[in-house]
Amino acid sequence: MSDASTQPATDQLPAYRVERSSVHGNGVFAQRDIAPGEPVVEYAGREITWDEAQVRAEIQGGPHNHTFFFSLSNGNVIDGGDHGNEARYINHSCEPNCEAIEEEDGRIFIYALHDIKQDEELSYSYPLIYEGRHTPAIKRAFACRCGAEKCTGTMLAPKPRKRSKPKAKPASLAELVPPPAAVQIPQPAVAG
Ligand SMILES: [Zn+2]
Repeated sequence: MSDASTQPATDQLPAYRVERSSVHGNGVFAQRDIAPGEPVVEYAGREITWDEAQVRAEIQGGPHNHTFFFSLSNGNVIDGGDHGNEARYINHSCEPNCEAIEEEDGRIFIYALHDIKQDEELSYSYPLIYEGRHTPAIKRAFACRCGAEKCTGTMLAPKPRKRSKPKAKPASLAELVPPPAAVQIPQPAVAG
């Protein structure tokens, strides 16, 4: 009958909650202090193929509406909008306090990068790869308001320079997807 769950120990609280964010739409906030390296939440969602992701993006009406996609190292995509959880509301920051890491089994977890105080908004860095033209409308849609001192002002990964580091293979992504988790941070995709 009664078990440990009747005791509201602080560290049994969920580490996070969702509420309106001053950065963008909903945000995810620390419900309690979080230690560095602590796994905060899984980035849940259905794993779909890249082709399927393209189809879904089109149905939803373009890049503005599918920032819930998270690309995996196996080429598939996790669609946080399909059987996802609160993790999809974590906002981008140019100076994040969390990072997304893809585990060996292909699941993605959000880890605290450093000490996070209760009520702090959680964030991680997900420069979005968008191969289409960075039109004013696109730039507006993905403006960054994280407020960090070093805020780049945009969530879009910069258009690649010709001579980039050879290690990241240019993904031929025609759409917009956060890069795979920390296993390998890809360079911005090379357009055309
Ligand atoms: Zn920013």
